[in-house]
Amino acid sequence: MTDRVPFFSTQAIHQGFDAQAAFARVLKSHWYVLGDEVKAFERDFAAYCGVDYCVSLANGTDALELALRAVGAGPGSTVMVVANAGFYSSTAVHLVGAQPIYGDVDAASLTMCPKALAKALSQALVLPQAIIATHLYGQLAAIDEISALARQYGIALIEDCAQSHGAQLDGQRCGSFGDIACFSFYPTKNLGALGDGGAVVTNSLTLAATVRSLRQYGWSSKYRNDLPMGRNSRLDELQAAVLNDKLPQLDAANAQRRAIAQFYSAELGGLPLTLPMSTGDDFVAHLYVMRTEQRDALRARLDAQGIATDVHYPVADHQQKAYAHHHAQVSLPVTEAACATALTLPCYPNMPQADQKRVVQAVRGFFAAQ
Ligand SMILES: *Cc1c(COP(=O)(O)O)cnc(C)c1O
Repeated sequence: MTDRVPFFSTQAIHQGFDAQAAFARVLKSHWYVLGDEVKAFERDFAAYCGVDYCVSLANGTDALELALRAVGAGPGSTVMVVANAGFYSSTAVHLVGAQPIYGDVDAASLTMCPKALAKALSQALVLPQAIIATHLYGQLAAIDEISALARQYGIALIEDCAQSHGAQLDGQRCGSFGDIACFSFYPTKNLGALGDGGAVVTNSLTLAATVRSLRQYGWSSKYRNDLPMGRNSRLDELQAAVLNDKLPQLDAANAQRRAIAQFYSAELGGLPLTLPMSTGDDFVAHLYVMRTEQRDALRARLDAQGIATDVHYPVADHQQKAYAHHHAQVSLPVTEAACATALTLPCYPNMPQADQKRVVQAVRGFFAAQ
């Protein structure tokens, strides 16, 4: 009996990474919240993204929520989002009391369709307060066209970069295209902590200052609560220390993920599968998602051969039970088809080559047996 091929392995991705060193620095400093590790991470991550400011937070959902608050989204406003990105944006939109307006995604990239966005904006009775463009699976959205539309209509553009740390368009990194961008450092993300973490990045001094205040009770200075709707959402020193030590390896880890994606795409081309649109610099292979009408049968076959897969994501946001009654009239054909056909193969740094080959052989075997 051969071992199972896991979907992800924290052990594998941390080969050669010494978390003890990061922890030791923090223990020695005796400073646990908003100290030198957080300062260093905010400085270095802003520089990595090519922006002026980074404000670290407790997680990526908080980043979306506080970014929405900073651009003025709240009760009575709407926010344009996609419905195939795991409900994170929807959660944040509901948290600030706004309403999500769902647009369909492009059939090739599975990210926000600029044509659908243009149409929605041209027909809107009241313009949305913000657009959230999610760089899904590590693939940059059509960010040039989306930001041109946001500018044209004077709408704030929020990038959701929780799956796309380091993805580039012509040398410019994600997070630097919109007004403000949101990151998660959940352990499985391309840059992951050993627990929860998040951040916003921006070139706006005002937006950075607003999020900085909101993450700490709405303080302008200690015990001065100047902004409403503040809360506690801080990245702690231990996680910041881990991220400081992992950030210099991010590009190498992304290159490893991309190489696995390139291997899959080369080996699976020609099969009746829709493969990721790009395996270039605009894709950091957070998830290798392919599409097939035979998704459930293929998934069962891979499972029987010991290969773990996942589905990102099985239920579209507008059809999730929590708020489905708000969206009974919404129809998003490309999004809904993707939910029924998407299948994610294992793809993570240091994934053994033998496992990559087993995945390819099992997928090929499934179609050869048809
Ligand atoms: C993971 C993720 C988030 C949320 O991040 P958390 O840190 O888990 O709150 C938001 N958006 C996308 C696209 C994500 O993948």
